[in-house]
Amino acid sequence: MSFSVLGLDPKILQAVQEAGYTEPTPIQTAAIPPIVAGHDLIGIAQTGTGKTAAFTLPMLTRLIAQPAGPRRATRVLILAPTRELVVQIEENIRAYAKHLPITMATVFGGVGEQPQIRALRAGTDIVIACPGRLLDLMGQRCADFSQLKFLVLDEADRMLDMGFLPSIKRIVNALPKQRQTLMFSATLSKEIEALTHEFQRAPKIIQIGRRSNPAETVTQLVYEIPKHLKTPLLLHLLKEPQMDMVLVFSRMKHAADRLARQLEQAGVRTATLHSNRSQSQRLRALKDFKSGAVRVLVATDIAARGIDVDGISHVINYDFPMHVEDYIHRIGRTGRANAIGDAISFVTSEDHGELRALERFIGRGIVRKKAEGFNYTAAAPPYNPADNERRFASPQGQGRPQQRGQQQRPGQSRGPGRSSPHNHGGGARPQSSGPSSWRR
Ligand code: AMP
Repeated sequence: MSFSVLGLDPKILQAVQEAGYTEPTPIQTAAIPPIVAGHDLIGIAQTGTGKTAAFTLPMLTRLIAQPAGPRRATRVLILAPTRELVVQIEENIRAYAKHLPITMATVFGGVGEQPQIRALRAGTDIVIACPGRLLDLMGQRCADFSQLKFLVLDEADRMLDMGFLPSIKRIVNALPKQRQTLMFSATLSKEIEALTHEFQRAPKIIQIGRRSNPAETVTQLVYEIPKHLKTPLLLHLLKEPQMDMVLVFSRMKHAADRLARQLEQAGVRTATLHSNRSQSQRLRALKDFKSGAVRVLVATDIAARGIDVDGISHVINYDFPMHVEDYIHRIGRTGRANAIGDAISFVTSEDHGELRALERFIGRGIVRKKAEGFNYTAAAPPYNPADNERRFASPQGQGRPQQRGQQQRPGQSRGPGRSSPHNHGGGARPQSSGPSSWRR
């Protein structure tokens, strides 16, 4: 299948080609024609499936086919749950619209209002916004949505989880009723269906993959581990050179900071991403992670929502996620756009109930794995706050990690007596080792 049969504008096709996309992903094949034809649409798709292009490309095609009004008023509003996702959507649209005379603005909290107010007042074709700040600015009468033609709710399930429903309803009530509304969500819950009825007209429903199944290309593994050995296990696994771009999820912000310090002290270049960090610190952390300046990014769920970083080799659930939906979103950070990735979950005795719930939700067991050469019987160190930072620094420290791209190839020896902590069987992708290794 080629992009050229989907009814897209030639200038957009050119940009798509320049982005290096050779063929549409399944959600793009399914969603682009109905959106070009003017239908409302609900897309149930996992993260990393190419859904941003799935809604942007046809929307841009329709946008440039319609003459703009006498003064520049906003014709597209995209709502997304986090500032990171807003920035990422904007970056994507800029690439897809590079040959078009389209203007856009982003609106999110945590930074000064004035530039956003100026951009809205000047009039922009596309506004990409988090609901909270947008509602504030609408209250100040900064935005003109009287000419709005398209509304997109991206990661709608997450926006509901984050308590944005009242803000979203107030925003949508202020928009023209004659518009095309597109909604994307990883899961189709009753709440999402209710929103569909309220905001959309006879939407086409597009579902890619099973309803709640994590990205197909991600290998999922569980390491059962006593709580006090989580950090030593993480450091042990990080000896594996294939772990060259690792996203680690921590439940709490302060724990994320502490873990990052411990990793740094052990010689692992690490950045953190959570909501106590300023916008510039977050952008810096993402930039360093993307460029390879840091090897590990420790993040909390909200901060990591929607981040689109190519080439994440491993996602590690240092803390098991509280909600199954979070698990799906977390592991969707790797294996994006059909790249291969591994998702590893540390499971303590306290997490067994959640693990069983997750396995029921995804409809299958997750392979249990033991880290080779790791001492599972090490005693918990005596509690000493002053010592807290030092105790993991050595002897687990592995020195400076290799630069990205210099990592060993699978099957290469890493020196005598050093077995792989993450045995991939001589370099082949790990397959499920069959039902006998699965526990339910
Ligand atoms: P998304 O699900 O929109 O976050 O997209 C995930 C990643 O897939 C992004 O890095 C996109 O740039 C990339 N992508 C989107 N569409 C395609 C395509 N047709 N071919 C290759 N990569 C794509």
